[in-house]
Amino acid sequence: MQRMNESTARIALPTFEQAAMIQLISTFASMEERFIPSTKGYSLYLRPTMIGTQRTLGVGPPGSALLYVIASPVGPYYPTGFKAISLEATDYAVRAWPGGVGDKKLGANYAPCIVPQLQAAKRGFHQNLWLFGEEEFVTEVGTMNMFVAMKNKETGQKELITAPLDGMILAGVTRDCVLSLAKEKLVPEGWNVVERKYTMKELSDAAKDGRLIEAFGSGTAAIPEQEAGEIALQMKNWIEEIQYGDVEHEWIKVTALWKDEHWLYAERSAAHCRFTERKSASIIQIQEMKREMRRESYI
Ligand SMILES: *Cc1c(COP(=O)(O)O)cnc(C)c1O
Repeated sequence: MQRMNESTARIALPTFEQAAMIQLISTFASMEERFIPSTKGYSLYLRPTMIGTQRTLGVGPPGSALLYVIASPVGPYYPTGFKAISLEATDYAVRAWPGGVGDKKLGANYAPCIVPQLQAAKRGFHQNLWLFGEEEFVTEVGTMNMFVAMKNKETGQKELITAPLDGMILAGVTRDCVLSLAKEKLVPEGWNVVERKYTMKELSDAAKDGRLIEAFGSGTAAIPEQEAGEIALQMKNWIEEIQYGDVEHEWIKVTALWKDEHWLYAERSAAHCRFTERKSASIIQIQEMKREMRRESYI
């Protein structure tokens, strides 16, 4: 919610009271429990969104805005399972730049990435690996944060590396979870967990030397990876056991409790929930919302 407030503030949209919003979403999720799927891997996706609604032409701060939550039962992001994907190191298009808004969750960051994604797809790659600058710093992958596990060139120590939040990186909640879990569980096993800039050359050198262990992306909807990697799988399992309440954890907030064995958990990022039945009222709601939005954009 803090990230959303920082994002809306950046584009002159209003901010809101975070605790109240979380409370509203929790109540909403409890009321709509029938849309929370019960099969593992399925969830009720909750996406708070804000759009400006002032009916005028011209560039200026909007006088009105709509804050709404898209709620939709969703299946596994990768229905064929947790599979390796191929990445195109993209140097002909830039996702984010210093002083830009790449660190904010804005629709404006996604639209320009679609054509490069299609171009990568045409060449047989699943996603873009976004590079920045002449040094070819590795920043993010698709719409996910990028993690690399490799052995240090000098010391041979295993390192889990991700780019630092320098204004060009989206502060992913999953990124934060992965870093926390890595510090908690991998550091005691001798790993070094680092947020630092790293380049494409470092990656390819590590690959050539056989020091590259694995690479994966992290985001709320999925944590795919390069080659059914051990670390990524481990992370996925650690996150899921927290998410599904198999272990007790401070990130979990129980929003409702019903029918003995059915629990509803709201994840730290307010995203994934467990559920009992599916049907399509929330989908109808979304369609109405889309109509609403379309109407707004035509006026
Ligand atoms: C949404 C997003 C992420 C992941 O954020 P989560 O909070 O982990 O879902 C990472 N990178 C980009 C560019 C994003 O838009």
